[in-house]
Amino acid sequence: MKIGILSRGKKIYSTEQLVAAAKERGHDVSVINTLHCYMDITPHKPSVRYKGKVLENFDAIIPRIGSSTTFYGTAVLRQFEMMGVFPLNESVAISRSRDKLRSMQLMSRKGIGLPVTGFAHSPDDKADLIEMVNGAPLVIKLLEGTQGIGVVLAETKKAAESVIEAFRSLDAHFLVQEYIKEAGGSDIRCFVIGGKVVASMKRQGAEGEFRSNLHRGGHGEIIKITPEERSTAVRAAQCMGLNVAGVDILRSNHGPVVLEVNSSPGLEGIQSVTGKDIAGMIIEFIEKNAKVGKTKTKNKG
Ligand code: ADP
Ligand code: MG
Repeated sequence: MKIGILSRGKKIYSTEQLVAAAKERGHDVSVINTLHCYMDITPHKPSVRYKGKVLENFDAIIPRIGSSTTFYGTAVLRQFEMMGVFPLNESVAISRSRDKLRSMQLMSRKGIGLPVTGFAHSPDDKADLIEMVNGAPLVIKLLEGTQGIGVVLAETKKAAESVIEAFRSLDAHFLVQEYIKEAGGSDIRCFVIGGKVVASMKRQGAEGEFRSNLHRGGHGEIIKITPEERSTAVRAAQCMGLNVAGVDILRSNHGPVVLEVNSSPGLEGIQSVTGKDIAGMIIEFIEKNAKVGKTKTKNKG
């Protein structure tokens, strides 16, 4: 098969692993720098151009789109979809999962466990917003944050009010969320491929840190997840329409709650902690599923 990987560089660990796995299985694979693509959007002959040539004959595209390139990356991917190329994850699903508000609304509609959460932009009544999520301590997050940046634990109502004030003055969208203290600074990353959890790990935040992000000094360890956690992760990925997803779950005393669904989950942590060949499993999924024009949201853009 001819596989294209949309990525910002060949040297990125996950990209390297996918290239190696594809080659090992006898595929022709190329890494395409997403931001360097340009597109012809004339009716009836959509194409993607790169370094002066039309990119064609791909059987599948693996989008590795970072949060800073969501807008352009999904546009390039959509163009490939219009050409009938099979996307590992489709553009609409990526857009859904990237938007914390939209994804939580979709999951709430499906009855998937979520932390008690409120969204706001410029609330006049901060006290009521705080009360809505059961008061302090509570977590306040910038909608556009990643890697734990923009996630604040407000221990008291006063602290919560000042953070809300600060976010308001930035003209930023944010969410307020019940603090799941019982998670003890850890969360669970479930790696889903094709409707199955193929690997999972617990991430534990550094000493005194409630955020478990590996970028914030957390570390990963092997964990056995419960059937309920497994089905929560699978349903979360399915509800976004993602074939491949990293679903982050907190163990709360009202059951597993989904924090976020990642559409370009990193391979480094999960592969090294579990020793599993996730890149190989992704290529295998493509071998079994890639078909011309096979998307769930055809023409729904
Ligand atoms: P980001 O997109 O920046 O990773 P997250 O929502 O995943 O933001 O939050 C970062 C980390 O903070 C999570 O992995 C988790 O460990 C911790 N965390 C986030 N929200 C809560 C919460 N409501 N209760 C307890 N811990 C939380
Ligand atoms: Mg996170």
